[in-house]
Amino acid sequence: MISCSLHAQNKNDQQVDRPKLVVGIMVDQMRWDYLYRYYDRYTDGGFKRLLNEGFSCENTYINYVPTITAIGHSSVYTGTTPAVHGIAGNDFIIQATGRRMYCTEDETVTPLGTSSENTAGKMSPRNLLASTITDELKLASNFRSKVIGIAIKDRGAILPAGHFADAAYWFDNSGDWISSSYYMKDLPQWVKNFNKQKLAEKYLKQDWNTLYPIETYKQSIEDNNPYEGKFKGTQTPTFPIKTSQLLKDNGLGLVATTPYGNTLTLDLAKAAIEHENMGHNPTGFPDFLALSISSPDKIGHQFAINSIEVEDNYLRLDKDLETFFNYLDQTIGKGQYTVFLTADHGAAHNPQFYMDNQGNGGYFNSGTAKDGLNDLLKAKFNQEKLVISLSNYQVHLNNKLILEKNLDESAIRAQAVKYLRNLDGVAFVTDMDKASEAAIPNRIKERIINGYNYKRSGAIQIILEPQWYSGSPKAKGTTHGNWNPYDAHIPLVWMGWGVKHGATNRVTNMTDIAATLAGLLHIQEPNGSIGSPITEVINH
Ligand SMILES: [Zn+2]
Repeated sequence: MISCSLHAQNKNDQQVDRPKLVVGIMVDQMRWDYLYRYYDRYTDGGFKRLLNEGFSCENTYINYVPTITAIGHSSVYTGTTPAVHGIAGNDFIIQATGRRMYCTEDETVTPLGTSSENTAGKMSPRNLLASTITDELKLASNFRSKVIGIAIKDRGAILPAGHFADAAYWFDNSGDWISSSYYMKDLPQWVKNFNKQKLAEKYLKQDWNTLYPIETYKQSIEDNNPYEGKFKGTQTPTFPIKTSQLLKDNGLGLVATTPYGNTLTLDLAKAAIEHENMGHNPTGFPDFLALSISSPDKIGHQFAINSIEVEDNYLRLDKDLETFFNYLDQTIGKGQYTVFLTADHGAAHNPQFYMDNQGNGGYFNSGTAKDGLNDLLKAKFNQEKLVISLSNYQVHLNNKLILEKNLDESAIRAQAVKYLRNLDGVAFVTDMDKASEAAIPNRIKERIINGYNYKRSGAIQIILEPQWYSGSPKAKGTTHGNWNPYDAHIPLVWMGWGVKHGATNRVTNMTDIAATLAGLLHIQEPNGSIGSPITEVINH
């Protein structure tokens, strides 16, 4: 280690050697196997370039449950899990009060680029308890590195950019990119100009057709099938998707559920690099662009993972990435920037599709389970509504009421665990105070404990059988949230400055990404980090 840091310092007049720009790309809902499922039709310059030039950590897992968007973005950038960083869901329940909180809600800030009443703009990273690697870069550079987060989803932009970010921009259903007064007083002129181009509308007017002839989509089931959700205003979930006509019923927010959402996000990323002069910091410190590509998640949720829509999305995203990497080569310089691409979670098969093909799976009805539980607890403890919510596969008890009525909390928990264990599709249930002794395989147990934040998570955790998830029977599309490989095995590919070429099959964790970045950049790891650097990646 000593010789390597000396080497770094000697090379460039006592300046520590660092990339000019770091670009984090989180592809929302990208399963690891998508790198290979559609490989044959990827271009040389997108996903294949990452694999062929860069370093792939082939067995990277999410080391907590629930595997959900806000937690994934937080955990990658903080190097830790909900137990420490506090983002326990997209929404979570403050256990002391029973109040539901959205991960990035912030009543104290004012929206920018939209009406002051638009709650979509009342967002900030304040609920995130730990520092991010982007925060650490800010601290290491005495706040001179520039950090910007961009994503269609607010949480995908805000959480990665961290507390000290210069800006985070997210997409409003009006068609504009917005921000909040947490970051600045007013939207920069270049963002206002970007919005004036009305790109969302321009893209949607082109309709969504398949990139290649539809009969060549061999990795997907037939286009007209019973597992896909339809857009409002359509009869069948099939191509061509006439987004030009669907605009009327769906509004410009429709762009988020098409591959144009990817293009639009990367358009704004390029504009940010250009107008903020990112990657040319006079201090020698890198700037950091934290991108999240939200549309693959929306498309996956609606059409499920074996659809032509999902296949087409990845073929198009691949081309967009090629264009984006070429742009980075030209503006920053090949080998002068570091890119990593990963995901916040994967996705399951549609359970009905799985069962129709003789696989084992099912739909767990959280609402019915919650009602059954409340009936049982009322009979035992003579008190209504002891369960506030069954969400994120956790039971949230009415702690205020339990305290007020002086009820026996451990007896309530024991009854609830016993009841839930017998429900169809339930594999394990544990009272979180007893999780470490529970008869649950270690890897699952570790993920349960990592995901549990005492103040923000439910006191009882449910783990379903494989290929079961929460939803009503025959529900269309798909979802994610569980510990299983389909939800928890994510891509992690690095490329560019400081990155070796190669791959490892060693098991690594999502929480190792921040520590690896800290090693690459010679900066401190985030303040709640529990990860370890993936040393195979680092070329110095
Ligand atoms: Zn997500």
